[in-house]
Amino acid sequence: MTNHIPAFTHEGEVQRSTGEYKIKPIKKKVRELLGYPYPQRIPASVFVEQWVGISTDEFHRAKDADVRYMHNRHPLIDLDWSREDCLRYLTAIGLGGTPKSSCLGCPFHGNRQWRRIRASPAEWDDVVAFDAEIRKGAAHATASGHPLLGEAFLHRSRIPLAQAPIDHVTGAERAQLNQQLTLDGADEGDLETGAEEGCSPWACRGSADTPGPDEFGLAS
Ligand code: SF4
Repeated sequence: MTNHIPAFTHEGEVQRSTGEYKIKPIKKKVRELLGYPYPQRIPASVFVEQWVGISTDEFHRAKDADVRYMHNRHPLIDLDWSREDCLRYLTAIGLGGTPKSSCLGCPFHGNRQWRRIRASPAEWDDVVAFDAEIRKGAAHATASGHPLLGEAFLHRSRIPLAQAPIDHVTGAERAQLNQQLTLDGADEGDLETGAEEGCSPWACRGSADTPGPDEFGLAS
């Protein structure tokens, strides 16, 4: 299994780097917890059980780990819980405002999520630095002879995050917002709010369709 961090490029594709930023640190920590740091061999009888919160709406994203020392379990699927069931439960125990889970530097964030992150200066500095870091692709990929052709960006406008138009509401966003308001009188459209589903490093949606910079009136 491969895991990737997606990012937007001017070529209109989602470019993906390896699991350098997600899976690798998790494996490193797991090895540390098990007492077998790399490159020590881990006996077959030694493993961790890793719980991954994927609901029944997204069962197709539930995957096994790619190493023997990590066994993935999907408790929400075992419980037969959908996203709605999770929200109902969280609301019942007073946690109705729980945000969906995602990586801080996920390129599938909508503008609202970017604005929320910007409100926390330390987190904003972190994602702005990460955005700059991926511009030429993953250092590991470049070093191994697979350089990124072009440049990668976290924001779908293909503009460095610090300057990206995260306060801009696109026509598509406005239309979605109006449609959503008509439908349920509540939420905003997903271009504004980002991808609807929660996420985990084991289920990265790196192959999702990518909108282009023209959505922002920025295409040349
Ligand atoms: S794992 Fe999910 S939240 Fe993280 S980068 Fe991939 S798509 Fe985004």
